[in-house]
Amino acid sequence: MRRPRCGVCRQRVPLYDRGHRRRWRSLEDGLLKVYLEADLPRVACRVRAVVMAAVPWARHGAGHTVPFDERPRSRNPESYRRVTCSLLLGLRSRPR
Ligand SMILES: [Zn+2]
Repeated sequence: MRRPRCGVCRQRVPLYDRGHRRRWRSLEDGLLKVYLEADLPRVACRVRAVVMAAVPWARHGAGHTVPFDERPRSRNPESYRRVTCSLLLGLRSRPR
């Protein structure tokens, strides 16, 4: 088995322990919120000491997946809410 990568510097480093379960919010599926859960090990980095291992679906320390972070702003539910309210009130508005 290959050594995991450090979540900060991305170097291959020794496993420290099994860590604990983490959860990341991902893109919605229709009206449903989607979360990704995984047991995330910790690694012993020479530079950063003990940190979470890198995962391909999220940036270090983020609570969201990369696709969620990079979604177009127009898909932001707050923008939808603002546009919908503007349409209902007869106001012209553009999403941020
Ligand atoms: Zn590191």
